[in-house]
Amino acid sequence: MTIDSTDFGAAGRSLRSFAANPELRSAFAAPGSPLRTAFAPAARRFVAAADEDEVLDRVVTLTGKGYLTSVEAVGEEITDPAEIEAVVTGYLSLLARTPVPVQLGFDLTAVGMLRSPGLALDNTARILETAARHDSSVVISMERSELVDDILDVFFKLAQHHDNVGVTVQAHLHRTADDLPAVAATGAKVRLVKGVYAEPADVALPRGGELTDRYLELAERFAGAGTRLALATHDATLLGLARNQGLLDRVDEIEMLHGVQPELLRAHREAGTACRVYLTYGENWWLHLLHRVAEHPPTVITALADLADPDRVVFGAQY
Ligand SMILES: Cc1cc2nc3c(=O)[nH]c(=O)nc-3n(C[C@H](O)[C@H](O)[C@H](O)COP(=O)(O)OP(=O)(O)OC[C@H]3O[C@@H](n4cnc5c(N)ncnc54)[C@H](O)[C@@H]3O)c2cc1C
Repeated sequence: MTIDSTDFGAAGRSLRSFAANPELRSAFAAPGSPLRTAFAPAARRFVAAADEDEVLDRVVTLTGKGYLTSVEAVGEEITDPAEIEAVVTGYLSLLARTPVPVQLGFDLTAVGMLRSPGLALDNTARILETAARHDSSVVISMERSELVDDILDVFFKLAQHHDNVGVTVQAHLHRTADDLPAVAATGAKVRLVKGVYAEPADVALPRGGELTDRYLELAERFAGAGTRLALATHDATLLGLARNQGLLDRVDEIEMLHGVQPELLRAHREAGTACRVYLTYGENWWLHLLHRVAEHPPTVITALADLADPDRVVFGAQY
């Protein structure tokens, strides 16, 4: 039996359906969850640390190896006010204790967006003010297409008063080409990603050559506008094309999620491009793990091997 791209596509859809399944999600979140215990060794490849103290140690380790870092408390959309406040105070405490400047990344739906854009604005402003006192910054993540208007609106307001805020934009969305001039005009840092959310064809392109071309065009336009740009992708072919067209000399950095393609990132660092590792931490990693495996279903085998032999995951070894 051979496994082909159709099988991998179907496997990815199954994994995304596990990620979205509310019963599995609440089973994972329950105290003492057997699901969490069973899959924890596989999550450790992608989720860098259990808590704030450990992630700061990880930041120091990777900084020592010559990498830049991003940090995010892993989680899902939040509506409970107490949980939102806990996320915000967690970031404030991390910023107060970090021994090196950090770049935070988070979803606005983790800091109040689903209650009101005003709450997400206020909470992100609190984090930015503390970050500024510690030479640190925030690059806001981009979420599903229904939320993009509200997220950009909050970002534009923050960018008027904070020079340490940046934003993520998704190349797969058709609208991004039109959003680009206003985003570039802020002078803020931009992270360019393909986009992780399943979107309809009238909203976004699927993976493929057309998306690669569009990603590179958007990157060229941002670089041409003088934007501080991070190419956030694990796609070796795309990065090879970017290098061939001289784009890597005109962007600030390449950024990858921790645990995905570490050897590729290391090769780019050794070739002289600034490279950033995006570190997630915390216990609420169900979606994060399943999305990483769904994006590249052969990773199922790696995950199963990690379950059998947890000691083979050694933080930082492949960087
Ligand atoms: C730093 C960072 C921040 C991000 N922030 C956001 C955000 O705010 N909003 C958002 O929508 N998305 C975000 N993403 C996710 C992004 O949109 C993509 O879903 C993700 O990067 C996968 O796409 P890709 O560019 O790697 O290319 P893909 O087309 O998914 O993959 C291209 C190739 O990369 C390799 N590859 C990909 N994944 C793996 C893997 N797990 N293991 C091994 N090889 C792999 C494979 O060879 C694959 O063929 C972020 C990604 C990064 C790196």
